[in-house]
Amino acid sequence: MEQTDKEKIASLERSLFYESQYKSAIISEAICHYEANLSKDFIENEIFYKSEQGTIVSTTKLLGMSAPCKFSDFIKNWINKAIDPDYASKYEIFSNTKDFLLKSYSEGKRDHIIEYWYTNEKGKEFFLNQRFLLTKNEDGDICALAVLNNTTHAKKIEAQQHRNELERHAYFDPITGGYNYIKFKKELISANVRGSIISIDIHAFKLINTTFGTGIGDKVIKAIWDRIEEVFDFPKGDFAAHINADNFIAFCPTEDQNEIITKIKSISYSLNLISAELSLPQVKLYYGISMWCPEKTIDLSYSEAVTAKNNAKKLQDADYAFFEKKDMDRLVWEENIIENFENALAQNEFHVWYQPKYNPENREIIGAEALVRWIKDGKIFVSPGEFIPLFENNGLIRSFDQYIFRKVCMQQKKWQSEGRKIIPVSVNLSRISLYYKDITSIYSHIAESAEIEKKYVPIEITETAAVKDKRFKEITDAFVSAGFILHMDDFGSGYSSLSALNSIRFSAWKLDKSLIDSIGNYSGERLLHHIILLAKELGIQVTAEGVETAEQNNFLSETGCESIQGYYYSKPVDISNFEKLMI
Ligand code: C2E
Ligand code: MG
Ligand code: MG
Repeated sequence: MEQTDKEKIASLERSLFYESQYKSAIISEAICHYEANLSKDFIENEIFYKSEQGTIVSTTKLLGMSAPCKFSDFIKNWINKAIDPDYASKYEIFSNTKDFLLKSYSEGKRDHIIEYWYTNEKGKEFFLNQRFLLTKNEDGDICALAVLNNTTHAKKIEAQQHRNELERHAYFDPITGGYNYIKFKKELISANVRGSIISIDIHAFKLINTTFGTGIGDKVIKAIWDRIEEVFDFPKGDFAAHINADNFIAFCPTEDQNEIITKIKSISYSLNLISAELSLPQVKLYYGISMWCPEKTIDLSYSEAVTAKNNAKKLQDADYAFFEKKDMDRLVWEENIIENFENALAQNEFHVWYQPKYNPENREIIGAEALVRWIKDGKIFVSPGEFIPLFENNGLIRSFDQYIFRKVCMQQKKWQSEGRKIIPVSVNLSRISLYYKDITSIYSHIAESAEIEKKYVPIEITETAAVKDKRFKEITDAFVSAGFILHMDDFGSGYSSLSALNSIRFSAWKLDKSLIDSIGNYSGERLLHHIILLAKELGIQVTAEGVETAEQNNFLSETGCESIQGYYYSKPVDISNFEKLMI
């Protein structure tokens, strides 16, 4: 049949299209290409592929077929032979390639790419990119040019890049570009040599961040990191890492303290430059050093270095400290205390002692404070000032505070049922316990189960900067609404503003011993005078704490303080002695 001009042009265009595709297939090193007539479900020519050795192999033969053949049979065999069935089932295009491609063409799509892993007969894996280009031939049949590329190499590079990227995230710090703590530990373990671990942090870094912004904060971290990199000799076996916030760690394979001090001084020496460059007040670093050997965990050495660094912060004349035996003893002691806690509860080693509060005018007892004593083998084991902060650090405080509160409630109930005079006994509640969920209902439940009116067990909460906190206000309000009476402990020792204090519904302020110790000095006395006056105006009761002398007692009494607690009247005493005082 004679072709029309239009058909000739179409045929020419198609040839050109295929030619350009073949060329690009060859340039792109396609391993196989063939044409399929989708409308007739037919492949006319034998299909070859380029083997790994570069030889040309018959694909149809490999699949146990011979061309010409049906396109759908060819694909079916290819899927069975070459593609993981799980994988094939995920792709619509594999389920019925011919119909899928015809449908695509009718929807105006001309190009389909599928990528998949293929295992050859020798078990070698390839990553293939198979592209179907759709067009119509001069007879109006829809045809596909299939071009198969081996992209295994590119895929492997991509996978490697992906791995590198993951590694970068896992091991490198985004601010400094240097190691993070995980990588530091990995390197140190593989170095397997003894040496010194140095913990470094930036003095008042939070202040830099809040005053100048985190952008400047990050710049400070990077600038310090650059100094660390300059001073520590990485090629000679030193390592360093940025752990988090303003915390850095470094390792030197030496136990020579002078060598470490020289390095530390060299870093500190250049801090002026960082301050000048970033227009900041003087940047200061603290350092703590501990020894490390492969038999010891890095975390332990690091925590020792941090302990030493915290000690350095208390020094006047140095910005570094080495971890010493006494620090070790302290850590062991602290661990011992914590380990002993459960046992102490079980053995009833925590005793509540009572310190009375007196009315200075008539010297009558008007209340008391419950103060815990840890008694082991008949002796006070540790004072609460030492173990309470440890319990606060590891969460034990919550059950501890409840335990003491329950004990006091039950003791009050006992006194009441014995027909004794009952006075309010205030109980300390740690700020840490305050934030535990349902604290108000737990305390209410304890008091109610003991059948003791809440006014007889006021709660002492220490003055803190947290007084400004919304949450602090919510919790204290909840306590007041539940019927509790709140006393602000250690008034005058914290940083809270008077307006913030006034927003919390405290019924009493307990003036801190530091204020009482200023009696005898004019400005101290003026201050106390005004505080007591202000409290009276606000309808708040005042208790003076730590009153030791007659002079202090008389001054307070004359100034209008109605409640005094201190050694001047009585030290904290055990139950039987307290009962004697109450008679
Ligand atoms: P705090 O609540 O401010 O208790 C007052 C502390 O001052 C008590 O020390 C008391 O013995 C002491 N003190 C009283 N009068 C005088 C005095 O005239 N001179 C001197 N120098 N000291 C005086 P303590 O019993 O060692 O308790 C220390 C801190 O431990 C308490 O301070 C309180 O914050 C905490 N604490 C005690 N018991 C508990 C408790 O059951 N729970 C909680 N969370 N904390 C408690
Ligand atoms: Mg107290
Ligand atoms: Mg106090």
